[in-house]
Amino acid sequence: MAKPGKTSAKTVDVADSYAVRLMQHLVVPTFVVDPKRRVVIWNRACERLTGVAASEVIGTNKHWQAFYETRRPCLADLVALDRPEQLPEFYSEYAARGHNGLGFSAENWCVMPKLGSQLYLAIDAGPIHDEAGHLIAVVETLRDLTDQKRAEMALKELATKDGLTGLSNRRAFDQMLMSEWGRAQRTQKPMALLFVDVDHFKLFNDRHGHQSGDECLRAVAAVVSRHAVRPLDLASRYGGEEFALILPDMDCGAACVIADEIRCAVMALRITHGATGAGDHVTLSVGVASHIPGETDGSPDRLLAAADEALYAAKRLGRNRIICAERLLAEFAKLGRDGVPVPGRVARKSA
Ligand code: GH3
Ligand code: MG
Ligand code: MG
Repeated sequence: MAKPGKTSAKTVDVADSYAVRLMQHLVVPTFVVDPKRRVVIWNRACERLTGVAASEVIGTNKHWQAFYETRRPCLADLVALDRPEQLPEFYSEYAARGHNGLGFSAENWCVMPKLGSQLYLAIDAGPIHDEAGHLIAVVETLRDLTDQKRAEMALKELATKDGLTGLSNRRAFDQMLMSEWGRAQRTQKPMALLFVDVDHFKLFNDRHGHQSGDECLRAVAAVVSRHAVRPLDLASRYGGEEFALILPDMDCGAACVIADEIRCAVMALRITHGATGAGDHVTLSVGVASHIPGETDGSPDRLLAAADEALYAAKRLGRNRIICAERLLAEFAKLGRDGVPVPGRVARKSA
């Protein structure tokens, strides 16, 4: 590519030529800037796409205002300046070489200030050189992919979210668990996992009906989700009336605090249970585990098994409690000889 901004070169002839008129009526939204990045062509389709009239931008550097609220380069500017290294700063998807091997391609959500609604645009910008190799213009073409992008996002949402509660589904949980396990292995930081299970939920359904059961699950899910506060925390519906919370970079003690906050928050909802064999209100049992993955710990299976065992122990110890895997043995040592918890001695809140 010739050095950008050379003004000695011929500039694009924007007289009322046949080629320019063709471009004006092209159905593809297109605009052209000269080497000084002033708009020389802004076609009708571009006017329709952006809501900005050609008369507002021709001869100016203000083409960015058609797409963004704050000043920033458009793709044509980056091509004119030959700055492929700035693509990641400004675009979510990009390629430094377009379809014909020249120019840049990118995709982006654009604010479209004149329209007042965001559009997801696929953008191609290619340079035009004269016979001597000097840049004379950059042509930017735009495709509105908003509908496709929204459909793609909705599909992604469907594939990763649980329909009843809106939490991440099991599939998203499995993926996140693997990636966070890998990160914990690299950083040698502990990773915590909570299994949260509604107590006597079968009895709840039997007494109050499946519909109320669904409402109860949504309420519990909202509580679990509220406790996934950091960017990499993940609350998910593991299955049925069981939820899982991945808490990266957290040891057992801190995870137990969160587990007990969840348990108490659900008790505070005072959702009536009242079935024979259950308490007056809906309660939860929580199994907590946290591990720093060893170098050869290829999978998080041990962490899963530990949290699962802890949950199972919480159930056996009488439900409505949290049990931490690290303290399992200690908890069972507190059991009476017949395997029934000694009142007042089984910790409700481990840590
Ligand atoms: P425990 O205290 O030992 O966990 O007993 P539990 O009754 O909660 O556990 P169990 O595994 O025996 O029963 C789980 C129940 O959860 C059975 C099933 O019908 C119910 N369930 C699972 N998914 C849903 C759902 O999406 N909606 C409703 N309403 N109920 C569900
Ligand atoms: Mg249950
Ligand atoms: Mg269960």
